[in-house]
Amino acid sequence: MTNQQAHFDHSYRALGDRYATACTGTPVTNPNWLAWNETLAEEMGWPSKWRHTSAALDALAGNTVLEGMNPAATVYAGHQFGSFNPQLGDGRALLLGEWVNKAGKRFDIQLKGAGPTPYSRGGDGRSPVGPVVREYLLSEAMFHLGVPTTRALAAVTTGDPVIRNQIEPGAILTRVASSHLRIGTVQYFAMTQRGEGLETLVNYVAQRHYSDSIDTTECSEIQGAARALLSEMGKRLAGLVARWQSLGFIHGVLNTDNMLLCGETIDYGPCAFMDSFTANKVFSSIDTGGRYAFANQPAIAHWNLSVLAQCLLPLLDDHEESALAYAQRVVDAFPQQYTDVYSGLVAAKFGFDSISAADQPLIDGFFTLLEENQHDFTLALRWLTETATKSIDHTPLAELFIPSPALEAWYREWTARADFSEDGLERMTQSNPVVIPRNHLVARAITQAEQGDNALMTTLGERWRAPYRWEKNDTEWAACPKKDEEIHRTFCGT
Ligand code: AMP
Ligand code: MG
Repeated sequence: MTNQQAHFDHSYRALGDRYATACTGTPVTNPNWLAWNETLAEEMGWPSKWRHTSAALDALAGNTVLEGMNPAATVYAGHQFGSFNPQLGDGRALLLGEWVNKAGKRFDIQLKGAGPTPYSRGGDGRSPVGPVVREYLLSEAMFHLGVPTTRALAAVTTGDPVIRNQIEPGAILTRVASSHLRIGTVQYFAMTQRGEGLETLVNYVAQRHYSDSIDTTECSEIQGAARALLSEMGKRLAGLVARWQSLGFIHGVLNTDNMLLCGETIDYGPCAFMDSFTANKVFSSIDTGGRYAFANQPAIAHWNLSVLAQCLLPLLDDHEESALAYAQRVVDAFPQQYTDVYSGLVAAKFGFDSISAADQPLIDGFFTLLEENQHDFTLALRWLTETATKSIDHTPLAELFIPSPALEAWYREWTARADFSEDGLERMTQSNPVVIPRNHLVARAITQAEQGDNALMTTLGERWRAPYRWEKNDTEWAACPKKDEEIHRTFCGT
């Protein structure tokens, strides 16, 4: 479908009522703009009459429905911190529809925080302004860092209070994803509906996201779809988590319902980027056991993939043993797929073409040293980059980062090993960011937004659009937090 008018579509709703329930946003008192993402609107071919206009404001606050929207909440299940929850669903999210641009590209558009839905089960379906600011900034920063992610088209304040530990101003995020279908969506139909509706779902997801990989030469259509979904999802997940690890991103709630089948990062709740490097770092206030610590993320993604594999077993092959063998092969391939992507990213960060077994002790040594000296992860890597590219005197980095004698010694060892090419140095520059969405800056933007001032949110959102180069005022934006600015806990705001 090309060269058509951009429009709303509802292909997922068309699968039937067991997948989603129609409902609308609950009107709010006094909506106001917090943020508007014109670049994304442009990419989506979003009509100008709905760009930062009062019509858009009302609709994105859940007060009205724009032409073509058909809001609904979708159902899913999921393993939360390892325990199965048979019914979750969009409890504070509302799918407005699928926006299809002129080129035929499809974007799910969701409001997050637009009021209760049939899946809210006691919750208010609302969001305080803090989590909306965090998700807006973090998801957009992730995109510009080159990580697959849901995006943020807009954020609005509602004018109504939200009651959490204290009374907070309410807000709504407009989230955009390739789709919002999750491992948990598959789980719902496989594990709670005795497989009813599962084939339709799997066919749909495979067609929507992995149509190029469906191969039915030796199997049925549904088997081809299930195999494509499982194996391609495995690859995307491996690539996704490798990117998180290469940037020091900690998701915080890697439940199976927070893993999208399209392979995009979703749910920026109690997430954070590390400042100083700690392999087992945990920020999430609800992750008391450290299940989703930084270093555990690849293994958790692997576990989540195995849950998807288990759900798809009946669809993979006519014979149980062959189905099991297929699933096992995909699950077993994950660690190597992860390592391949991760090693490539790490090689780029250190200026190597590839990482050989002989390099591993050197790389491991770097991270050990960072942890022992509590060096800032991002600045240490950028320091390497700028020292190697001899650009350190032209940037504010020397003001921001003082290497320990141990790191200086490691640097000498590294340069003795490395044989930098111009390409290698350029790759380093393009893979070691100057700025990341640091907690203390996000927290400052949240505090201001809670007081009705979105200036810092706007500034940070702008700055994080070009994370791999220096810009003016970067002594402020690239700096790691001072001791009294450090934040070690983040909250999901449910
Ligand atoms: P999350 O932590 O955002 O992944 O949400 C987990 C589940 O709790 C999902 O089913 C959400 O829809 C639901 N949930 C989270 N916050 C709320 C809320 N404020 N009201 C109703 N449901 C919620
Ligand atoms: Mg979630």
